[in-house]
Amino acid sequence: VDKAIIMDSQAIKRALTRVAHEIVERNKGVSDVILVGIRTRGVPLAQRVAEEIKRIEGVELPVGILDITLYRDDLSTLAYQPIVHETLIPFSINDKKVVLIDDVLFTGRTVRAALDAIMDIGRPSAIQLAVLIDRGHRELPIRADYVGKNVPTSSKEIVSVQLTLTDETEQVVIKEF
Ligand code: 5GP
Ligand code: MG
Repeated sequence: VDKAIIMDSQAIKRALTRVAHEIVERNKGVSDVILVGIRTRGVPLAQRVAEEIKRIEGVELPVGILDITLYRDDLSTLAYQPIVHETLIPFSINDKKVVLIDDVLFTGRTVRAALDAIMDIGRPSAIQLAVLIDRGHRELPIRADYVGKNVPTSSKEIVSVQLTLTDETEQVVIKEF
């Protein structure tokens, strides 16, 4: 059941523009910054942030991809195990500031797996996290450096993120199941 539209396409665009500005400001430019999107919807988000940064700074940032699949033995429990499936980062991350980008931050388990995968392939000078939605319910000591919107949710709700690059419409909707 759809409950509420919490971001329309304009709100998503404004949030991504702000996040792009924050990345540039926090890192005093983007000379050492690379972006890594977590599949599926972290990838179009990373591309959109890269476009905004190109507009702001005139620099085209490399965009890598991490494919992390969630394995749950039991759908009624949240104690799933994210497995890194594929890593498409065809450039050096040594001494770079890696900005991980995902659509929704929930327990933090996916990000933990992403941190492991990044550390396995190089030695970045820093890793930062950007998410479109922080829906709360963290189970690990992980937080985002850049947040499009904080959306406190109940455990019965999920956040549906629809982006024009992957979906027919562009909006963020709260659903109850
Ligand atoms: P976590 O590992 O933090 O529990 O969950 C984050 C990952 O699961 C992200 O890759 C995100 O895409 C997905 N996820 C978790 N909860 C939601 C949700 O409510 N909506 C959407 N669209 N994705 C979610
Ligand atoms: Mg995901």
